[in-house]
Amino acid sequence: MKLARFLSIPILSVLFLVGVLYYVTVFIFIDDWLSLQTSAGSLNALIFTFFASLCIFSYFVCVLKDPGTVPSSYVPDVEENQLSDQESGRIGVQAVKCDKCLGHKPPRAHHCRVCKRCILRMDHHCLWINNCVGHKNYKSFVLLVFYATVASTYSSIMLISSILDKEWSSSRVNGWNPMTSLKLFYVTSGVMIFGLTLTLGTLLSWHIYLIAHNMTTIEYYAGSRASWLARKSGVTYRHAFDVGTYKNITLVLGPNMLKWLCPTAVNHVKDGLTFPTLRDNS
Ligand SMILES: [Zn+2]
Ligand SMILES: [Zn+2]
Repeated sequence: MKLARFLSIPILSVLFLVGVLYYVTVFIFIDDWLSLQTSAGSLNALIFTFFASLCIFSYFVCVLKDPGTVPSSYVPDVEENQLSDQESGRIGVQAVKCDKCLGHKPPRAHHCRVCKRCILRMDHHCLWINNCVGHKNYKSFVLLVFYATVASTYSSIMLISSILDKEWSSSRVNGWNPMTSLKLFYVTSGVMIFGLTLTLGTLLSWHIYLIAHNMTTIEYYAGSRASWLARKSGVTYRHAFDVGTYKNITLVLGPNMLKWLCPTAVNHVKDGLTFPTLRDNS
């Protein structure tokens, strides 16, 4: 039962955090700054709700979508298999055997110790979605990070606007300024929301870099080592699946630019057993 996947502490924490952030942004920051009764206030609340909904939608897709598993009928391309990585200079291009599943592992697939199976074009196992990020849910993962960054940035702007617009009175009631606890609330929220925005923005930039180079997180680390070894022996190393920036982007987000931001538009995602490489292109 896929829905049982939601019964994990990280997932419930994420959903709780999103709920708190949504409430605080709409009913405190926006309401305080513009009031939800005004058209400017309700427009901002509507825009924020739109991005928050897309964020939650992408999140559900990430959690529920299978990242892609190796079909039992999979047999690797024999011709490809005759060259070793060193001979071809193309790390991870060929199928190898998985010593845990005992079956063949297509290029770019890796065994996940948490999922206990091989995942196609595995990126990483993500605790926050209680699922692997792989071939079939990578687009929704990237869009989740994208919408979360947008929503978090929007929340930061609402927070700043609300602070700037506030009249911080210094009058004291029984020797105590009631504004003090409000200030404390704003400072705590600010630290949390700016920290979140910065973290998400960094993660988004990282995945934009990976998409542009057609790399997975695993391949990035394997590639750094391979390129260091190649430099030592005086040859240049190039990631085998990097087929040009635009083509790389379309392989993840799809050929139709209008559908790039839709987490469920994944008709372009192939079986994940073979991938275009540099050699096919030259
Ligand atoms: Zn395996
Ligand atoms: Zn996994």
